Amino acid sequence: SKYSKEDIMRMVEDEDVEFIRLQFTDIFGMLKNVAITAGQLEKALDNRCMFDGSAIEGFVRIDESDMYLYPDLDTFEVFPWRPQQGKVARFICDVYNPNGTPFSGDPRYVLKRAVKRAQDMGYVLNVGPECEFFLFHTDEEGRPTTSTHEMAGYFDVSPIDLAENVRRDIVLNLEEMGFQVEASHHEIAPAQHEIDFQYTDALRAADNIMTFKMAAKTIAKRHGLHATFMPKPREGMNGSGMHINMSLSDKEGRNLFADDQDALRLSRDAYYFMAGILRHMKAMTILTNPLVNSYKRLIPGFDAPIYIAWSPTSNRSSLIRIPSPRGESTRIELRCPDSAMNPYLALAACLSAGLDGIEKKIGLPACVEGNMFTMEPEELRERNVERIPETLGDAIEAYNGDSFMKEVLGEHIYTKYLEAKEQEWRDFRAQVTDWEVSQYLYKY
Ligand code: ADP
Ligand code: MG
Ligand code: MG
Ligand code: MG
Ligand code: MG
Repeated sequence: SKYSKEDIMRMVEDEDVEFIRLQFTDIFGMLKNVAITAGQLEKALDNRCMFDGSAIEGFVRIDESDMYLYPDLDTFEVFPWRPQQGKVARFICDVYNPNGTPFSGDPRYVLKRAVKRAQDMGYVLNVGPECEFFLFHTDEEGRPTTSTHEMAGYFDVSPIDLAENVRRDIVLNLEEMGFQVEASHHEIAPAQHEIDFQYTDALRAADNIMTFKMAAKTIAKRHGLHATFMPKPREGMNGSGMHINMSLSDKEGRNLFADDQDALRLSRDAYYFMAGILRHMKAMTILTNPLVNSYKRLIPGFDAPIYIAWSPTSNRSSLIRIPSPRGESTRIELRCPDSAMNPYLALAACLSAGLDGIEKKIGLPACVEGNMFTMEPEELRERNVERIPETLGDAIEAYNGDSFMKEVLGEHIYTKYLEAKEQEWRDFRAQVTDWEVSQYLYKY
């Protein structure tokens, strides 16, 4: 690992760090933390910091509530946006039981388990996420709204793009925290933005996604704006996705998806990996697209995929697209995920599904070229192209009882997740929406 305990002690001393946040992520992808003072650092480094697990949704019952936080030393970072005297730093932590075993409800553990399995097969998964979000105004009380006076679109420049300085500020802060930001730009919808950072191994990438969201929200707030990763905040406009670019490499870092002998210059492993994802896609959609609202984004006409298919070209209507770069940049792009996902669970599912494809040598269905949004249902049926779940209810149905998902997530998370999503769907179905009232009240 990058840092030893001694390195950390020295950095905390030299950098005048006063507070340290011990962070972790709950099952539903919410970042949690407890702050300790620098005086407690040794205790934290000895894995002796504890919290009450029963206070966290989806974690444990009251009678087994002591949980321990084991800091991952390599995740030590100082928050650049906090005071520069008496600084604030953080660790991302693993959650452990009092008896020293990893807590099965810790999503980071689920991903670590999948990563270990890949490692045993000789693979490293590399992940590059593309993070989209909206910057909206807040009202007089500081509450977030969905309004903006911005009217810019894809790749627009200032002065039309009003958030140039916010994006700049987010990027600079991320770079100070060790991110290599590759690109940032205005997205298609008004007030919508994208920031892309460099790919890295799956665990780091999931940590980075959590850090990114925290940083974006914090910096936006300093500019008087609310950064939201809600998948579809406004009807009739593009929603925010989080495309996941993936490739496998060996321990030496050689890209194992590249093969110059192949017509598409893709390897057998790349095809199997895609086939695995396509096979398990329906059951894992609830992880990549976890909210009632996620499915409002997955409709035709807004660049979001709706069919379970792959395409070797720049076909943006397909679920998996192969971006044109080859060689070290050979990768597949999964286009359905949105940033409401828990990145640890979603990446664990993608990796495990891909490995299943490799292990079972699952055959890849023929690719689908052309715009699927405009194809007739009949044509799609002929090609055996299935739709991804249309609602959270459909996603629950595909997930419920799926033995593969149970194995990937473990019994604890599998069950807690199912229960919570069933409740969410029941709550939603009980709502009478504005749309219904406006459509039906007068006419019926
Ligand atoms: P798009 O063309 O879909 O807009 P972007 O250029 O915005 O894609 O993002 C590309 C992402 O893919 C970046 O995060 C980049 O680091 C990542 N990437 C590049 N090469 C690889 C690779 N070999 N494996 C995984 N991800 C990669
Ligand atoms: Mg992009
Ligand atoms: Mg791009
Ligand atoms: Mg985009
Ligand atoms: Mg993309």
